[in-house]
Amino acid sequence: MKKQIAVIGLEMHCELKSNSKVFSPARNAYNETPNINIAPIDMAFPGTLPVVNKKCVADALKMSMILNCTQPEYMYFDRKHYYYPDLPKGYQITQMTEPVGVNGKIEIEVKEKLIPVYIHDIHLEEDAASLDHYFDTSTIDYNRAGVPLLELVTEPCFHSADEAVAFLEHMRDVYKYCGISEADTKKGQIRCDVNVSIKDEDSDILGTKVEVKNVNSFGGVSDAINYEIKRQTELKEQGRYAEVEQETRRWDEESMQTIRMRSKVDAIDYKYFVEPNIPKYRISKEWLEELKKEIPRLHLERKYDYINNYGLSNYDATILVKEKDIADYFEECLKLNIEAKTASNWITTQILGYINKNDLTIKDIYLTPARLKDLVDLINKGTISSKQAKEIFEKVIKEQKEVKDFITSDSAQINDKEELINLIEEIIKNSPNQVEQYKAGKTNLFDYFVGQVMKNTRGKANPMLTKEILTEKLN
Ligand code: ADP
Ligand code: MG
Repeated sequence: MKKQIAVIGLEMHCELKSNSKVFSPARNAYNETPNINIAPIDMAFPGTLPVVNKKCVADALKMSMILNCTQPEYMYFDRKHYYYPDLPKGYQITQMTEPVGVNGKIEIEVKEKLIPVYIHDIHLEEDAASLDHYFDTSTIDYNRAGVPLLELVTEPCFHSADEAVAFLEHMRDVYKYCGISEADTKKGQIRCDVNVSIKDEDSDILGTKVEVKNVNSFGGVSDAINYEIKRQTELKEQGRYAEVEQETRRWDEESMQTIRMRSKVDAIDYKYFVEPNIPKYRISKEWLEELKKEIPRLHLERKYDYINNYGLSNYDATILVKEKDIADYFEECLKLNIEAKTASNWITTQILGYINKNDLTIKDIYLTPARLKDLVDLINKGTISSKQAKEIFEKVIKEQKEVKDFITSDSAQINDKEELINLIEEIIKNSPNQVEQYKAGKTNLFDYFVGQVMKNTRGKANPMLTKEILTEKLN
C-alpha cells in the first residue's frame, strides 16, 4: 500500500465575552446555578424579537480581520432549522450566506516552523442550551442559550494531530490577547468538530472524511485524530476502505475511541433562510478601520520581534508572549531601557516563579517595570549584588515598598577599594601558612581567601573587586 497522508479540517466554536447574549438582553456569564441568565426570547416565548449585540458583531469582525478574511458588505443572519430539546425556537440564528469572514489565511508555528492555515469562513451565531442526562431523567439549562459563539471553519489543510492542536492553541491565545473570549476549555468555552480522512501520498483526491463532533479538550482533539488516522489506515490496509463511511462520530474519553453516531451521507436539510427579524445593515469602511486599531499586537508577531530584534531565545520569547499581560510588562521594561535579556531573565525566572507560587497575576504584583528598573540599575552600578537583588525583589512585593527603602548602608555592597585593601592585607597577615602553601603552587587556596573576605564582610564585598585585589596582593 502507498504511504498514507492524513488530511484534517477543524470547526472551532468559541464562546465570546460580552455583558449580554448575542440576540437577547440576558446576562452572558458563566454560572454554576442553572437557568438564571434567561430572557423570554432564550426560551422562544411567542412575540419576542432578537436584538443584535453590537459588541459581538464588532468582535466577530475583528476576528475576521485577524484571520485575513474578506468581510461582507452587509451584516445579516440566517435561520438554521432543526429540532432538538436544547433549541426551543426550532432554529438557530447563524450565518450561512454571508458569514462575517471568508477565505482567510494565517500562519502558525508548529515545532518552531511556520505553516499556513487556510480559513474557509468564520461566522457569528448563538449557542444552544445545555442538556444533562441522568439515569432516567434529563435536565436542561438555558443559561447557555443565546450565548455568542464564533464558529471558525478551516480548509482541510492540516496533516497531523500536532498541527491541528497547534492551530487551536494559537487561536485560543489570539482570543485571549484580544479579550474577545476567555477561551477556557475547562468552562466548555471552546468546542471542536474534527474532520479526518486519509489519502495516498501522491494523490490529489481527498479520501472520505469522518467527522468527530464536540470534542471539548485539546488532548481529546489530538487523541481523536490519531485514533481516526489509525482506524482508517488499518481498514485500508485490510482492503476494507469502503467501510470508512462519511459519518459523524463522537470521542469517548473513557474507552479512548471514536464511536459512530450517525451516517452523514444524506446531508440534513436545514431549510436555511434569512432571519427576517434582524434587518441587514451595512458595515462601513470607517467602522472596520476603527475596529482594526483596537486589535493589539498578537503573540506570534511579538515573539519574532523579541527573537529577531532583541536577541532572545525562542524558548524565552515563547514564555514571554504566552499571556498578553506578561508580554506588555516585558515591553514596558524595554521602554524603560532595561536591557532585553536582563528583563527577560527577571520575568521568566523571578517574577513568573513568584506569581505562580503565590497564585497571582503579573498585574497584581507591586514590582512594576519601573521598580524593576530601580533594582536592575542598582545591580548595574554595583551597589547591590544579584543575590541581594533577589532578596530585595521579594521584600518590595511583600512589604509594598520602594526598592530604595531596602538599600541601607548595611545592605549595600562594599565597593570601597581602600576598605577592601585594608581588610585583605589584614587577612593575608593572619594566614601565613595558607600564603606559603599558595605561593608553593597550591593555587586553589585562592578560593579560601575569597571565602575569608566574604566571611568578614558578611557577603557584601564586591566579588570582582575582591578577586582583583587578592590577585594583586598574593602574586
Ligand atoms: P460538511 O458539509 O459535511 O459540513 P464541509 O465541506 O463544509 O463539510 O467541511 C466541513 C469541515 O470538514 C471543514 O473543516 C473542512 O475543512 C473539512 N473537510 C472537508 N473535506 C475533508 C476531507 N476530505 N478530509 C478532512 N477534512 C475535510
Ligand atoms: Mg458545521
